[in-house]
Amino acid sequence: MPYDFDLFTIGAGSGGVRASRIAALSGARVAVAEEHRPGGTCVIRGCVPKKFMVYASEYGRSIEHMKGYGWTARDVRYDHAAFMGALHREVDRLSAIYRRNLVNAGAELFDDRAELIDAHTVRLVKAGRSITAETILIATGGTPWRPLDLPGQEHAITSDEVFHLETLPDHIVIAGGGYIAVEFAFIFAGLGVKTCLVYRGDTVLRGFDDDIRVHVHEELKRKGVSVYTNTVFREIEKRGEGAGGIRCHLTNGERIDCDVVMLAIGRTPKTSGLGLDAAGVATRENGAVAVDAFSRTNVPSIFAVGDVTDRLNLTPVAIREGHAFADTEFNGRPTSFDHVDVPTAVFSQPPVGTVGLSEAEARRTHGKVDIYKTTFRPMKDMLTGDEERVLMKIVVNAADDRVVGVHICGPDAPEIIQAVGVAVKMGATKADFDRTCALHPSIAEELVTMREKWLPPGMRAAE
Ligand code: FAD
Ligand code: NDP
Repeated sequence: MPYDFDLFTIGAGSGGVRASRIAALSGARVAVAEEHRPGGTCVIRGCVPKKFMVYASEYGRSIEHMKGYGWTARDVRYDHAAFMGALHREVDRLSAIYRRNLVNAGAELFDDRAELIDAHTVRLVKAGRSITAETILIATGGTPWRPLDLPGQEHAITSDEVFHLETLPDHIVIAGGGYIAVEFAFIFAGLGVKTCLVYRGDTVLRGFDDDIRVHVHEELKRKGVSVYTNTVFREIEKRGEGAGGIRCHLTNGERIDCDVVMLAIGRTPKTSGLGLDAAGVATRENGAVAVDAFSRTNVPSIFAVGDVTDRLNLTPVAIREGHAFADTEFNGRPTSFDHVDVPTAVFSQPPVGTVGLSEAEARRTHGKVDIYKTTFRPMKDMLTGDEERVLMKIVVNAADDRVVGVHICGPDAPEIIQAVGVAVKMGATKADFDRTCALHPSIAEELVTMREKWLPPGMRAAE
């Protein structure tokens, strides 16, 4: 029996849109269902609005810094409503582009929720209509995780709601120590909000290089964030509306009164009610759709890409997984995305850019590694008086001199690391870095001028 479509994609986010466009451009009959808005997490409630908030927040310090360069600004104020209006106009514009790109490629877009009925059938919930497809792609992304057993969790916002705060709080408490918690702690502190971070570990950004973690952790404190470590929420108590209306009870016995509480303690794959059981699609323990290197599930006609598979939850990764799927299934080019050496950034202030292995991972993988690292005050701050420091670190496999990790915390670190990522992916050696001429004056030049191996203080003395 002929199917209604060659491909039905559930979710018009980063991965789903790329896969659907490439498939449609190959001549396939493609349909996409989106229950919210085209663009997905990245465009609507993730990377894009987040980065605008980072920019907004950074202006606070720029105003202080400009004095060092002879500028005077009077009557400088931040208008949250005006900024949010501009932010959402841009989000609307981008979402419309995503919609247009899908349609222009020849895909049919249903503004509806889709659920699986069987291996070749989805049901559109609003329309109450079933549609068949030869191939189904699950690209439903993820959603903020809420601990439903935490008393008062319903009084907290997540990253989904943070872009819709009508007014800036006086005092916010953020739970978590990962990407989102750290980024928003800097954002709110930069906007002048009294900011507390409550983290269950002792140093934020677990999984990143330890030097980077300590550097960011110290920067949080230096920027005025009160960081509560080795503790979590016991209860969130609503005592009234507005300023000071929420009391956070921590497991260490401390209490913090604030206006807004934000939970940023991880995300879960968005598979609830999706009909995975009905279609026989296997999941991993955390609910993520289990896939192989070609994004194939255990059901031959069903594939999955992006955050719903919980491999590496980043926009460019979802895009590349979607593209690889479409090339394999619709363009006759079997392609799998290589998840090794994917550069990533934390938009802290200053930001982190990192590619490859942390020092600890490199030691576990390669045994002996050489470390090159430096910290310094950036040239710009010589006149601003800011004590912020840059951290740069290169991790080298001692056996073959290959650079296996580069970690930067400092101005423009994400921009620098995107370019350095090419060299690392190509297998550049430390000698290749050394024979590359410096570009002066820049922060990045330190990457090609570090000559001395770093040794722990004890070993220095012994030599
Ligand atoms: P999504 O973009 O989430 O798209 C899934 C889509 O499916 C959504 O539009 C959803 O509405 C739709 N959907 C779900 N279920 C159904 C259904 N049953 N029927 C129809 N539609 C459905 N990554 C970076 O690389 N850089 C960053 O700076 C960055 N910042 C981030 C900041 C925040 C606050 C967050 C939350 C995430 C951030 N990320 C960042 C991660 C990035 O947003 C995700 O990795 C990326 O969006 C994943 O794309 P996806 O296609 O897998 O899913
Ligand atoms: P992360 O996984 O980065 O961090 C989750 C944090 O919550 C960790 O600090 C974790 O602690 C803590 N946590 C987990 N469970 C609990 C619990 N039960 N109680 C208290 N704390 C807990 O998730 P995020 O939500 O910050 O972000 C989700 C993903 O989105 C990221 O991993 C990333 O892939 C993507 N993202 C990317 C961005 C970028 O590229 N710049 C920006 C934002 C998001 P512990 O460290 O101890 O595990």
